[in-house]
Amino acid sequence: IITIKHLSKSFGTHEVLKDIDFSVRSGDVTSIIGASGSGKSTLLRCINMLEPATSGEILYHGKSIHDRSVNQAKYRSKVGMVFQSFNLFNNMTVLKNCMIGQMKVLGRSRGEAEEKAREYLDKVGMLPFINARPRQLSGGQKQRVAISRALAMDPEVLLFDEPTSALDPEMVGEVIGVMKQLAAEGMTMLVVTHEMSFARTVSKNVVFMADGVIEEQGAPDDIFENPQRERTRDFLARYL
Ligand code: ATP
Ligand code: MG
Repeated sequence: IITIKHLSKSFGTHEVLKDIDFSVRSGDVTSIIGASGSGKSTLLRCINMLEPATSGEILYHGKSIHDRSVNQAKYRSKVGMVFQSFNLFNNMTVLKNCMIGQMKVLGRSRGEAEEKAREYLDKVGMLPFINARPRQLSGGQKQRVAISRALAMDPEVLLFDEPTSALDPEMVGEVIGVMKQLAAEGMTMLVVTHEMSFARTVSKNVVFMADGVIEEQGAPDDIFENPQRERTRDFLARYL
C-alpha cells in the first residue's frame, strides 16, 4: 500500500532520516522499535504528511503523496494516525470527536457519521461514554476513543506512535487489547512501540531503527532471537 524510496529528512543540518527504503503491505502489522531520537516519530510523521520529506518519495498505491493533486485531509483519512498524547478535541464530546472528520473530510451526513461513530465506539467498549468530554476520561479510555475516531474514517492503514507510552501501567492492556483485535481482523498497522511483547507476538515484521537508518528488519523471531547487527543486540539487551 505504501512504498518509501530513498526518504531523507533533515531539520537544519541535522539529518534525522537517512535514505530510508521500506514498504507496508496490505494486512501486515509492522512494529518499529529503536532508541529515543532514532527517527521513529519523524518517519511516521512523514508518512502521515505532518512533515515534508527533504528528499526521496513516499508512494501510496504507487502514486507520490507529494503530488499536488493529493488532498492531505483525504489522504490522512486513509492513512490514519494515533498519537501518544491522543490529540482529541477537548471541547467536543466523545461522539462528536468521532463524527467531525467524517462530516468535514468525507462529506458524510450527520446521521451516517453518528452511526459509524457509534459502531466503532462500541467496538472499543466506549459506547457508554459518548456524551463525556475527553477530560473526564482516563488515558486508556481517551486512547480507545482516538482509535475509534481513526477507524470511523475507514482507513486503509493505521499509524500508531507509542500509543501506550503516556498511559498508566494498568491501562496499557486495554489499548493493546484493542490493537490486537484490529490486527486479528486484518487491519494494516505500522506501530512505533516500546512494548516488546506486542512487537514480538502481534507483528509480522519488526523494523529496528538507529540514528535515522533502518539498521535491521525481519520476522519478530529472527529479530528477537537472532539479531544480526550489533546495535540491534545492544538495544534488545537493554530492553529485554
Ligand atoms: P522517541 O523514542 O524519543 O520518541 P524518536 O525515535 O521518535 O524518539 P524523533 O522524534 O523522530 O525520534 O526524533 C529524531 C531526531 O529528530 C531527534 O534528534 C529530534 O531531536 C529531532 N527532531 C524531531 N523533530 C524535530 C523538529 N521539529 N525540529 C528539529 N529537530 C527535530
Ligand atoms: Mg517518538
